[in-house]
Amino acid sequence: MKSEFEFIENIRKRYSLTKIGDDCAVLPKDSKTDLVITTDLLIEDVDFKLEWSKPEFIGHKSLAVSLSDVAAMGAKPVWAMLSIGIPQKIWKTDFVERFYNGYFRLAQKFDVEIVGGDVSRTPDKIVIDSIAAGEVKKGKAVLRSGAKAGDLVFVTGNLGGAAGGLKLLQDGVQYNFSEKIWRKRLLLKQLQPFPQTPDGEFLLECKISSMIDLSDGLSSDLAHICRESKVGAKIYASKIPIDKNLRGLTKSFDEKLSYALNGGEDFELLFTVNPKKYFEAENEFKNRGFSHIGEMTANTEIIELITNENMQILQSKGFRHF
Ligand code: ADP
Ligand code: MG
Repeated sequence: MKSEFEFIENIRKRYSLTKIGDDCAVLPKDSKTDLVITTDLLIEDVDFKLEWSKPEFIGHKSLAVSLSDVAAMGAKPVWAMLSIGIPQKIWKTDFVERFYNGYFRLAQKFDVEIVGGDVSRTPDKIVIDSIAAGEVKKGKAVLRSGAKAGDLVFVTGNLGGAAGGLKLLQDGVQYNFSEKIWRKRLLLKQLQPFPQTPDGEFLLECKISSMIDLSDGLSSDLAHICRESKVGAKIYASKIPIDKNLRGLTKSFDEKLSYALNGGEDFELLFTVNPKKYFEAENEFKNRGFSHIGEMTANTEIIELITNENMQILQSKGFRHF
């Protein structure tokens, strides 16, 4: 699969700059520590809609998406910066105060310090640039490129819920307290996702071989691991932890599976681990609700999906901007 960043990669090569392409950039901090840094752009009407969300949720999600990338490196988040471009008409409302309430509440939860940012006026729509940084033991950041054939594939949490929430929003369902519980759960997974920060830090200690956060969707994000690690994967439909709340949306297993495979923004972690390392951590994996969904193979960049007795090649159908 060609990356939409391929043109940047080509330009980078011309200038002989360091390789780009993991969830965060890894920079040396001191003799014992590396710094990981990520930036995310959130554009009104592309990444969020004001009429579907609440300012508190948008603030929360702006930080959550960046903390998710920090977690995907196995790092502990430390500081963040937030820049916002905002039209005059929104500036005059309580949007900014409520936005920052959502943002700071999440920052406080993970002890993340806000060290700066910028504010500017835009002609029409809101633009948010969220930066977060974390720390990790020198040389230990978990990359997308470390998976080996024979490693086991795991995910944290349940999948497809955020895409289910998006479907509800597209169908005109609003988030409110009197909504049915399954609908509220799907909507919250979409509007107020939580980064898997504690699991990311735990997994670093387990010496896992590769990791990525599920922002584009399992089929696409597993393909990123395969490409960077130069391996393939085999996953089992029956082992994928499909979000149970999707039952409210559809009774069809195939449709629910499609949400879980191709829906984005669950912000769970997808990781690979050598079987020996897994056996050392087996109980804790169970306690934390991690699901074993398959294995890595030597079949470079091919992802096999096993459903019942059938095998099909899984195409990447997750989210892409272009
Ligand atoms: P994620 O979903 O983990 O936030 P992205 O899919 O946004 O990651 O980006 C993939 C990789 O490409 C990251 O390492 C990111 O830093 C890099 N990247 C994305 N856009 C650009 C850009 N405009 N210039 C340089 N690097 C970029
Ligand atoms: Mg990521």
